[in-house]
Amino acid sequence: MQYNSSMKLTYQYKLSPTSEQVVILETWGELLRRHYNYALGQRLDWLNRTRCQIDRCSLLCEPIGEIPDKPDYYTQASDLKQTKELFPEYKNIYADCQQQNLMRLDSCWKRWLIPDKNGKRGGRPRFKKRGDICSFTFPRVNSPKAGAHLTGNTLKLSKIGEIEVILHRPIPDGFEIKQATILRKADGWYVSFSLEDKTVPAALPIDEIKSATGIDVGLEKFLTTADGQSVAVPQYYRKAQATLARQQRKLARKTKGSKNYQKQANKVAKLHLHVARQRKEFHFQVAHWLVNSYDLIVFENLNIKGLARTRLAKSILDVAWSAFLQIMQAVAVRRGKHTRGVDPRGTSINCSGCGQRVEKTLAVRVHSCSCGLVIDRDWNSALNLLKHGSVGLPIPGCGGYLDTSPVKQQVSFVNLRCSRYTACG
Ligand SMILES: [Zn+2]
Repeated sequence: MQYNSSMKLTYQYKLSPTSEQVVILETWGELLRRHYNYALGQRLDWLNRTRCQIDRCSLLCEPIGEIPDKPDYYTQASDLKQTKELFPEYKNIYADCQQQNLMRLDSCWKRWLIPDKNGKRGGRPRFKKRGDICSFTFPRVNSPKAGAHLTGNTLKLSKIGEIEVILHRPIPDGFEIKQATILRKADGWYVSFSLEDKTVPAALPIDEIKSATGIDVGLEKFLTTADGQSVAVPQYYRKAQATLARQQRKLARKTKGSKNYQKQANKVAKLHLHVARQRKEFHFQVAHWLVNSYDLIVFENLNIKGLARTRLAKSILDVAWSAFLQIMQAVAVRRGKHTRGVDPRGTSINCSGCGQRVEKTLAVRVHSCSCGLVIDRDWNSALNLLKHGSVGLPIPGCGGYLDTSPVKQQVSFVNLRCSRYTACG
């Protein structure tokens, strides 16, 4: 496997700045917007004057005054010093952010004037209106000379201070934060991190995908694949959880603040940690097994907004499921394999054989359709997920069950304990 490519991701988090910080953020945004417009004006002006000289007869159009030097990123960046003298408020903005602002203009400008390898050009750069998306970028994060540092859920920005970040999901393991862009949206301020992992192999080309599966999360089984294999929730994990619940009940009976309460609270905290570690290890085992077995893994995407949640009983599982999905996606990327999230609507109701709706409550564990298909309900869902996720891929056997009824109706369980996988990714 080649380790010559890198994986880039963007993770966005909401910020909760203080009202004083909001004022600073707004001011920076506005000053940088004006400076962007000024620098764009300078470039357009130069273009107008020089074009005039080349295209037109000098009798009709004579350049007025002396033509200034061609403005580019370097001349404009060196003018920043002067800007700060003329407008001292610019001194309060972190210098790298001002350079990034000019770099952004420079790349828009080049995209407009220089065609790319397909001969395509971008549109003419536009002046930014007040109220347009307001953002600025810190080009380095967490390095010694960086203007932005993320520690835990605190983002420390040079000349602004410490802002709390709502880390609704952790920065994935192995990724380095390259840039931080602060931006304003309708409902507040956000930070967008550009992440990079350089140890990632190049992904398997799409047309070389040979095997694919769908995975469905179940109530009694951890997951079921489209070829009828299931992964059970391990016994040791169930046992540890039962112990945890018992110790928590014990804690509730103790007097708060007493020595015994403290002791018991400590015990519960340790058990929590133990259960969390076991779960993570189990997730890694399953993820490695899946990635070893299939080139493409299709899963139900729980992050689809506005999704009608008819699966209330599953909501407790959702937390564990999304933790697993993150691990699985990370493992897949490391191995150059593909994962794809699809809209889960209808996957448990529709028949994977004929597409007909077969309404069933959660208690009904078997999917039984008038077309003759009788299989485990989770298996049916997994088949539907695979069908949605493998559209356009030339994979044999990826259309659910077409003409033959399945021989086996029950899923078979995978024995993960036999395989040795490490949890190190
Ligand atoms: Zn059917």
